[in-house]
Amino acid sequence: MSNSVTTEVLIPRSLCLIEDFDNLIIDVEDLCSVSISWEDGFVSELKPLRYIDRKPKNILFPRFVETHSHFDKSFTWTDFPNQESTYLGALSANLEEHKTRSTNKVLKRVEKSLKLAIKNGYRAIRSHIDTYKSQSIDIWNELFKLQKKFSSELSLQFVALAPLEFWDTSNGEELAKILSSHGGILGGVVVPPFNKKETRRFLVKMLLLASKYKLEIDLHIDESIIEPGAGLKLLLETIENLKISIPITCSHLSSLISLNESEISYLGEKMAEKNIRVIALPLTNFWLLNRNNKKTSFKRPVAPIKQLQKSHVDVSIGSDNVQDPWYPFGNFDPFYMMSCSMPMLQLNPWERMTLSSIFLAPSRLLNLKWDGLIKKGCPADFVILDAQKWADVFSSTLKRKVFIKGALHC
Ligand SMILES: [Zn+2]
Repeated sequence: MSNSVTTEVLIPRSLCLIEDFDNLIIDVEDLCSVSISWEDGFVSELKPLRYIDRKPKNILFPRFVETHSHFDKSFTWTDFPNQESTYLGALSANLEEHKTRSTNKVLKRVEKSLKLAIKNGYRAIRSHIDTYKSQSIDIWNELFKLQKKFSSELSLQFVALAPLEFWDTSNGEELAKILSSHGGILGGVVVPPFNKKETRRFLVKMLLLASKYKLEIDLHIDESIIEPGAGLKLLLETIENLKISIPITCSHLSSLISLNESEISYLGEKMAEKNIRVIALPLTNFWLLNRNNKKTSFKRPVAPIKQLQKSHVDVSIGSDNVQDPWYPFGNFDPFYMMSCSMPMLQLNPWERMTLSSIFLAPSRLLNLKWDGLIKKGCPADFVILDAQKWADVFSSTLKRKVFIKGALHC
């Protein structure tokens, strides 16, 4: 019995790789009309629709990839609010939350986040997990069990987000070993003001540890409005001195926007040369940084996405926190993230580089098998919306269907 399905949809042209390109009908918002078929979980046919008098009533996206989240603290806002909505307020509420944290509480938050993310249309997520000396290492075994439990629906990557000095301890080394057998990543924070000498020393230790266990690094770096690019400059200098090559992701880099264009382009070229990837996190940055509760601020720091892309840096846009002291909103919904970020950052959804930062760069960042392009042979992993134009995508009455390996997820 055949389980083949065929439907007519619109797909953003830059997310669609089609052989019969010359016959594609593409609308003013770069959406192309296609007929798509899938069978046994994979796309079996993709061809242009020839008629111009009617348009498909659905838009199809590949399932989404979230490059930066914090599953371990999601939904803690009510118990640990940060009503001043400042970075320092978030940090102190976060530390209060640590005092009451248990493995069980964290697992519940992670599981709730995972279920929501799958339902809303994600296929892969990288989540940071707060890591500190007094925390039992056993939590990791449980987290990896969850990773496995959900692996048929979503691939989950964990970053152990620890103070830099943690990676210079025996606990740090023990965790690095564990992470190396589960595809885990070393995380840390490099945000000014910091002691340059000490930070450099700990960065060296962390980089060497990553190199020893063949691990990636993902840093919260320059999430700040002061000392623009100070963390990134120190990181680049340290890598150059060590002559080391490991995959590095810079999350945030918001203060870079205060540098002049030639400095941004110089740093961008250096990053591209070293294949350092960037995750821009506009929601938390706009919410927390440079906040003045008496004045509406003109300066809102966020990684200079377009300048970095121009320097050939692979930039992804991520969501960051969900309903915790760092950000009180969100629901692991890619359409919420897009609806907020695109107008905020003046990104046109009909442009290739915009969609690259949402679909393709994140797939590369997480080293996923599928690059996210809809083509013959790709997984039938889609989010299909009742929509005919971008305005429908960004409306509040979004109706979506999520397909995982060709089957409708309910
Ligand atoms: Zn973060």
